Amino acid sequence: MDRVILIKYGELTTKKGNRKIFINTLYSNILKKLKNLNVNIFKDMSRMYIEYLEKDSNEILKNIGEIFGIHAYSIAYKTESNIDSIKKTITEVLKDNLDNKPYSFKVETKRSDKSFKNNSIECNNIYGGHILKTFNNLKVDVHNPNIVVHVEIRSDYSYIYLNEYKGLGGYPVGTLGKCLAMLSGGIDSPVASYLALKRGIKLDFVYFEAIPHTSLEARNKVINLARKLYPYMGEARLIIVPFTKLQEAIYKNCLENYSITIMRRMMFRIMEKLTKRFKALGIVNGESIGQVASQTLTSMNVINSVTNLPVIRPVACFDKLEIIDIAKKIDTYDISILPYEDCCTIFVPKHPIINPNLNTCLEMEEKFDYNSMIEEILNNLQVITIDNCENTEYSDIL
Ligand code: ATP
Ligand code: MG
Repeated sequence: MDRVILIKYGELTTKKGNRKIFINTLYSNILKKLKNLNVNIFKDMSRMYIEYLEKDSNEILKNIGEIFGIHAYSIAYKTESNIDSIKKTITEVLKDNLDNKPYSFKVETKRSDKSFKNNSIECNNIYGGHILKTFNNLKVDVHNPNIVVHVEIRSDYSYIYLNEYKGLGGYPVGTLGKCLAMLSGGIDSPVASYLALKRGIKLDFVYFEAIPHTSLEARNKVINLARKLYPYMGEARLIIVPFTKLQEAIYKNCLENYSITIMRRMMFRIMEKLTKRFKALGIVNGESIGQVASQTLTSMNVINSVTNLPVIRPVACFDKLEIIDIAKKIDTYDISILPYEDCCTIFVPKHPIINPNLNTCLEMEEKFDYNSMIEEILNNLQVITIDNCENTEYSDIL
């Protein structure tokens, strides 16, 4: 018997105009994800079907569970679209999957091939009757059955399945363009990145590093966080920004209580340049309203005013506990709580300003030539490819 993995699309089915792009992106994302396995993938406007080798089934199911844009998926038995074949296949599915205990069931038929001579309700009755005749441990319960026998009748083939696994939902990564995600070693930014990926945004990561004030362990922490997101996104880059000199200049030239505000304005200025260089359309970060002084609305105004780019803040309105829940689910939490300091925590002022004034920032920024420092930074970026390999490759980008 031919078995396939049958995939139901997520939200994309409601977006009529973009459907094709979404389906094609999902198709190529699945193809990439399963590239080391022996599979054939077929698609139509409402389903995808993966032919696979039985020995790979667990690995494929695990992989499919990590792809955004999939609403649900099942192991389905494929058969010809005629009543006898469908009946025979139903018998087989039930024999393969059930023991002899008593169960209640109902049949749910979807008939996308409207030329099939029976309508869905007639099909439910025909196949339900067949099951009752064949299995004396099964009885019908249409309201609260133990088992739903799904029958999908399509013009070329029909598909029979019992269980449905819930997919991750969201949009296929890449359908909505690319952003640069600011990835620190904390709890929030990996979660923000995950949520942006779920909206179909492809990401490269940016990490601001202040060696020797921050350690290589801090960098490795960020690399390992990015790796945790690899299963959901495929290959990505981590851009390492050498921030030390600029950060020291900020602390030398600016009022202590303004240092975080100005540091973040510099980060956004650099992000703006990086989006151009890395062909991204916006910034994603893990800011959450009210969490720290730089995340009050006044602060966000003053900081954000250096860029016109969209800044996506997926966790802006989440409670810390809600963010932690997701961090645990995606397995980034244990890495995030490792104690290495990042560049935001090394020079934290005693009383960071929560209502900064834009003119004060501009006056302080006049005092040093940050533009040439930014130029120098941009000439000294390091770019790391994030993949699922243990050995990370370092390379400089022109
Ligand atoms: P996180 O838990 O992600 O570190 P946080 O609560 O510590 O967030 P902040 O340190 O104020 O918040 O930073 C807010 C956001 O700015 C981070 O979520 C991240 O997106 C970005 N950010 C902060 N520091 C860095 C850094 N060193 N490199 C890259 N992005 C950073
Ligand atoms: Mg942080």
